[in-house]
Amino acid sequence: MASVGFRWNLSGSYQQVVPRYVSTAVDGDDEREFLNAHFPDMTTLANAIFRKGYEWPFDCEKIHDHGSSLIDLLVHRESESLGRKVYLDYARNPQGGDGLDAFALEMLDDEAHSYLAKSDALADTPIDRLTRLNEPAVALYRDNGIDMTSQRIEIAVCAQHNNGGLRANLWWESNLRHLFPVGEVCGTHGVKRPGGAALNSGQVGSLRAALYIVHRYDQSPMDLDAFQSVVEPQILECVAFCDRMCSGEKPPQSVTPASVVGEIQVRMSNVAAHIRVADRVSNGLEEAWQLARRVRRDLHLSSAKSLPVAFRAVDLCITHVMFLEALKEYLDSDGRSRGSFVVLEPDGELPTATLDDQWRFRLNETDARVDREVLEIQLDDQDQVTKQWVSTRSLPDTDQWFEKMWREYRSGSIIE
Ligand SMILES: Cc1cc2nc3c(=O)[nH]c(=O)nc-3n(C[C@H](O)[C@H](O)[C@H](O)COP(=O)(O)OP(=O)(O)OC[C@H]3O[C@@H](n4cnc5c(N)ncnc54)[C@H](O)[C@@H]3O)c2cc1C
Repeated sequence: MASVGFRWNLSGSYQQVVPRYVSTAVDGDDEREFLNAHFPDMTTLANAIFRKGYEWPFDCEKIHDHGSSLIDLLVHRESESLGRKVYLDYARNPQGGDGLDAFALEMLDDEAHSYLAKSDALADTPIDRLTRLNEPAVALYRDNGIDMTSQRIEIAVCAQHNNGGLRANLWWESNLRHLFPVGEVCGTHGVKRPGGAALNSGQVGSLRAALYIVHRYDQSPMDLDAFQSVVEPQILECVAFCDRMCSGEKPPQSVTPASVVGEIQVRMSNVAAHIRVADRVSNGLEEAWQLARRVRRDLHLSSAKSLPVAFRAVDLCITHVMFLEALKEYLDSDGRSRGSFVVLEPDGELPTATLDDQWRFRLNETDARVDREVLEIQLDDQDQVTKQWVSTRSLPDTDQWFEKMWREYRSGSIIE
């Protein structure tokens, strides 16, 4: 959940102070507290909002039983399916309605109530609670031109980080030797990523890659002539592509980098974000391949200055094709809802009886193959895609006696 004008994640204290969730028609009329109709009472709703603070990223396992991720699903439904605008209002407490009482602090369960009490934040309104709990959170919006005491904050469910990526070994080296995909680009971002683990992964990966490079790749660079003969064909191909984009005749159905990126963004939000449907993924994949072909043939630039953004669009295009190939393969292999996404299925379960049938979904079976194995997917020069499921690597069972490990680390023999 994030604000969409000034972009910021609304996690932690932004939720723990129990703001009021409202939606309006596009013109601002018809304000509703749209969550009310889907919760049995204000206590359940207020505690779900509070828990959204530390159960913040969308998690399909936290939707049933009025879990905190039901809120994300309802926010998404309100904005994407019903075409309304959704806001957080910190000026007033949730007012109730649709059978729910108005919010009062006493309705919070022990965990939430004592958290606010210990933080000296048992104030009357969300904004007063937030000011006492975490004043910089209020100042941040103020510094960006938003006064939370009087202005509501428009929100949406947004993608947080990417799971899956390039394959790397224990030293973060890819199957292209000397290329180390460290961070979110690496397939080490697993299905359920605990908060804080992403930045750790970037640091650990960088350190291990650096260690490996220092111990293994200290040879002099390749002789210049040999290097030239290896790269020349690739560079000439690239230059010809640049020429075609910049100086060739403008194709009748030309595309620009901005239109390519715009199309990719819309498609990925519609079919590959937190709500996924098998048919839409298949169609999205077909359209993605069509775009990839159009990009090669019809990408046209008004000036060579646009080349950097053009190459970015080209890379993004092929990346989204492969992302959708992997997603389709996952669904074709009986993969269902897991981690940060829900796969809607007509014969799934309804997370709450107040939602209509289109919101049915199922979690993966225990011990499902898609959870025991990792999908590796590769694209060759002829646009052929190969996919294979490989077993996850087991945790190493090593002798981690400190003195021994430290000696191996210092001598560099750990690299062996
Ligand atoms: C809102 C938000 C909050 C988060 N909070 C946390 C948290 O609290 N704790 C945590 O552990 N993780 C958190 N994460 C996840 C974590 O921040 C990311 O996983 C991590 O920063 C990724 O680091 P990276 O170096 O792999 O990628 P990035 O930080 O995205 O760096 C990639 C860089 O490559 C550049 N780049 C892209 N394309 C090109 C190109 N063609 N040529 C040259 N440069 C290029 C980009 O400009 C960018 O600088 C959060 C993520 C988000 C979005």
